[in-house]
Amino acid sequence: MANGWSTKRVLITVRTYPVPAHRGIEVSCTAGVTSDGNWIRLFPIPYRFLNPDQRFTKYQWIEVDATRARGDARPESYTLRIDTIRRCELIGSAQQWRARKDLILPLRRSSLCEIASDRKAGGSTLGIFRPASITRLAITPAKPPYWTPQEENLLRQQLLGFETASRTPLEKIPVEFRYQFRCAETTCNGHRIMCTRLIPLAALQDSDRHAGRPIKTSRNSRTQPRFGFDPPALDIDQPGTTG
Ligand SMILES: [Zn+2]
Repeated sequence: MANGWSTKRVLITVRTYPVPAHRGIEVSCTAGVTSDGNWIRLFPIPYRFLNPDQRFTKYQWIEVDATRARGDARPESYTLRIDTIRRCELIGSAQQWRARKDLILPLRRSSLCEIASDRKAGGSTLGIFRPASITRLAITPAKPPYWTPQEENLLRQQLLGFETASRTPLEKIPVEFRYQFRCAETTCNGHRIMCTRLIPLAALQDSDRHAGRPIKTSRNSRTQPRFGFDPPALDIDQPGTTG
């Protein structure tokens, strides 16, 4: 395929909640593992505007034409041709995710500290790890809990090529979820990262009850979510931005 484009076969493992972006399109950041065992970030994907037969789920293989993302130095970042997305087989969760683990765990790293160190050295910016201990799941009100007028304007814009798509308004999640945890390394100062993956609505509505405590305002909460074509949700070493 010309000009750096190639067909990638990708097992989708991450899909973030959509956000308004500056070109009049709501986008999700999506990541997965390629058939040759490497992480890949696919962005932007206007997921809710895809044809129904293109709307993949997590742990489903897809095939898509992609090329390295311009202006994004992260080694896993690719842009894609939306109309080439083709859904393939779904990997089930039988036997405690055995088939999924076989595909994902070879990429496992020892800690977030290790992944962060790698990233600072110009290496990978996506990773999977198991925290040594999780100290808290903090659920705080989003600030603001609604779209700003500017964001609403972006969401109302007609998306070229998707004029016939359903335009059910995108709801903003009114709360933010952050995990606090530590790695096994003695040098770990602890981490506090935001969870921005897609959450079932029922879980969201019950989120304060699931956390076992009322929603509290965090002094350290960001005052504004970050929008745009720089996908922040998967920057694994930046507290508050991890998906
Ligand atoms: Zn750490």
